[in-house]
Amino acid sequence: MSTRSSPQPFKMERVPTSTDAGGQPAQLAGCMIALGSGAHAYFSARADGDLRRTGAALAATLGLRELHTLRQVHAAEVRVVAGALRVPAGGRSRAAPRQAEAGDALLCAEALCGVAVFAADCLPIALSGRRIVGAIHAGWRGLAAGVIEAAVARLRALGERGALRAVIGPGAGPCCYEVGAEVGRALGLDGAGRLDLAAIARRRALEAGVAHVRALERCTICDRSFFSHRREGGKAARQGVIVWREQS
Ligand SMILES: [Zn+2]
Repeated sequence: MSTRSSPQPFKMERVPTSTDAGGQPAQLAGCMIALGSGAHAYFSARADGDLRRTGAALAATLGLRELHTLRQVHAAEVRVVAGALRVPAGGRSRAAPRQAEAGDALLCAEALCGVAVFAADCLPIALSGRRIVGAIHAGWRGLAAGVIEAAVARLRALGERGALRAVIGPGAGPCCYEVGAEVGRALGLDGAGRLDLAAIARRRALEAGVAHVRALERCTICDRSFFSHRREGGKAARQGVIVWREQS
């Protein structure tokens, strides 16, 4: 089990019902987790479609006003949703993605404003504090570049003082993910072999000061309810995570 200290730092939530193209009720396929302090994360699955395209509709189903995404580059750049530390004058009526900046972690303090990252074997990670939430895209390159540490440092620099929580979503699992020696070395490991990305992410998050970390422990390579770049190649679509804070 991958949590510590507090008895109930995370809670699985009921996923809202959406409607399909024919107007019939359709259950979302992923899982929703309460992170505390009014923060929530929705981890999508294959049946939710390619989140790069379905994200806006999904965000609307989740009751969000906006959805913000990144142009992901497998590095450690952290972005903050513009105006995130002000109280907005009023939200949009429909979720609509804005122009995406380059980066691999996105933070936001506006209620009902979702931040999303996309992945197919890399890890989507939800991060939350008392006021600010974030989404992190972390494959081996991002982990080696320090994307988790950078996101936590930025959250603190923005004035977040509460205990932080993180949930590590579906990604390439230690059951399937063989890497070469250069990847192992980039992560400070000895040589080639099976890589446990989530375990590395969890350790990095705890060392960066995140108080509670949970890993969903789902492998995207062998579990066909997810998209996988390793299994499907360049045509693989993307699942991911949407993270937001509810209206207080
Ligand atoms: Zn596997």
